[in-house]
Amino acid sequence: MWQLLRPDAVNALESENVKKALPRYRKILIKKVKAKFLKVNLKEKVEKAYKILNSCGLCERKCKVNRNKTKGFCKVGNEPIISSAFVHLGEEPMLVPSFTIFFMGCTFHCQFCQNWSISQWFEKGKIITIKEMAKLIDEHKNCRNVNFVGGEPTPQLPFILDSLQYVKSNIPTIWNSNFYMSLKSMNLLKNVIDIYLTDWKYWNNKCAERLSKVKNYLEIVKRNHDLAFKDSEMIIRHLILPNHFNCCTKPILNYIAENYGEKVIVNVMGQYRPEYKAHIYSDIANYPKKEELEKAWKLAEDLGLNWIK
Ligand code: SF4
Repeated sequence: MWQLLRPDAVNALESENVKKALPRYRKILIKKVKAKFLKVNLKEKVEKAYKILNSCGLCERKCKVNRNKTKGFCKVGNEPIISSAFVHLGEEPMLVPSFTIFFMGCTFHCQFCQNWSISQWFEKGKIITIKEMAKLIDEHKNCRNVNFVGGEPTPQLPFILDSLQYVKSNIPTIWNSNFYMSLKSMNLLKNVIDIYLTDWKYWNNKCAERLSKVKNYLEIVKRNHDLAFKDSEMIIRHLILPNHFNCCTKPILNYIAENYGEKVIVNVMGQYRPEYKAHIYSDIANYPKKEELEKAWKLAEDLGLNWIK
């Protein structure tokens, strides 16, 4: 059925984009190699991850709260809590169909968040058990991947690693994140994730602080992209914000071209719409202009990026 709804996804694994940037992902899907989580010592990682909850530093906010007793900025406790989990047909063509688990809570407070009801807890969320999560993943082994997203998956990293211990299927894992993980979390993810699906929003800490309420964005997100690039395959999403070409879009695309070249896929996304509190900020209160989108896409092309839109 998904083939009818997303015909562009049918042969996407044979595309040049995938051959250049995601050759290992492709091999997992044609059963030539195993997903990384099936080959790593997860038990050790799970123990380390749960220990972090005693003084939480899973993301760079480093709230240092004991999440067995209280909650930090993300408002996630010591159990996995999700909004929904379903076969997602709206992701990049090579990822569709994607079994996507939407976790509650986020480490950011983006003023234009499209998933604000999940990220900022306007929904209640549903607590599931570790084994239920594993069972759900196994039941969707015919999808091209399991996609951990939110909100943001970082606060729920111990539960994700724990549940992967019980998954039997050879299914690629996707870490779909704002990339504000701490170094400890980056180490826990190492050798587990098959595709890092990143969200690189800003090049400018002032923009990040004003629009996502987060400090030291650039240093952290740049560091984590460099680490992820060394560890695994990557798709970088960049959402074109109106009026942020010079401060954000241009330097981000330049950095990707200089440092990762065609070995990553860049999705230069034109679907920004002013959601949630965006109307308060004059720069992002409207849709981007057609010329702004075309300028960003032209730059991606001129830089020789392995890009899609
Ligand atoms: S994951 Fe949540 S509690 Fe932990 S440091 Fe980040 S925001 Fe704070």
